[in-house]
Amino acid sequence: MDIAAILRTNLQRVQAEIADACSRAGRAPESVRLVAVTKYVDAAVTAELVRAGAEDLGENRPQVLEEKAKALEHLHPRWHLIGHLQRNKVRKVFPHVHLLHSGDSLRLLETVNEVAAESGKSIDVLLEVNISAESAKHGFQPEELIAAVPKIFGLTSLRIRGLMGMSGLEAIGQEKQNQFASLRILLERVREEFPEARDWRELSMGMTDDFPAAIAEGSTLLRIGSALFAGLR
Ligand SMILES: *Cc1c(COP(=O)(O)O)cnc(C)c1O
Repeated sequence: MDIAAILRTNLQRVQAEIADACSRAGRAPESVRLVAVTKYVDAAVTAELVRAGAEDLGENRPQVLEEKAKALEHLHPRWHLIGHLQRNKVRKVFPHVHLLHSGDSLRLLETVNEVAAESGKSIDVLLEVNISAESAKHGFQPEELIAAVPKIFGLTSLRIRGLMGMSGLEAIGQEKQNQFASLRILLERVREEFPEARDWRELSMGMTDDFPAAIAEGSTLLRIGSALFAGLR
């Protein structure tokens, strides 16, 4: 099979698995969006994936996102930045980002807000929460997030859409699902405590190995990479 055929097959299989997991969870398949994580492949293969039907693409490195966004401009994918963003990289990547998943500190959010205000455009952002209690992971601790919310409301060029989280590398089975549940519950709590947060609806959680559990707990954005490129190398 050529690359295009492999990508089409993989994409269809992943979409079918998403639909299955939605039906088991009693959810409409349209309530979940697939963000195809293309960090494993170059711009040419990424372009093939867009032609195969992927509309939302995720990269974890700002510089790669910027390069691919320029190379694939004619295909009009929506770019999601899913990895840690250093403050000195905000300005360059900003124009290309449809949704920033990795709003992981107040200082970063302040910088993004500044750049957005200067350019006269607002930007959609998710707040990344450390739900696994693993120290290597970025993100707000849950209580830290609650404390930061009033300050975040003051960053008026950010449109906060919801929360993002990753299950722990060491977590197994039900443990992963419990971590996803904790993110859902945290979002519910924020929406209850802060009326200004009633438009926070997105939950970015779930990857190749754990997305059915994430769907069961209300994920609205799946960040899936490996499953889409199986059989390519
Ligand atoms: C790589 C990556 C993913 C995708 O992981 P897969 O296991 O390949 O599906 C999702 N989220 C983030 C933040 C990543 O860095």
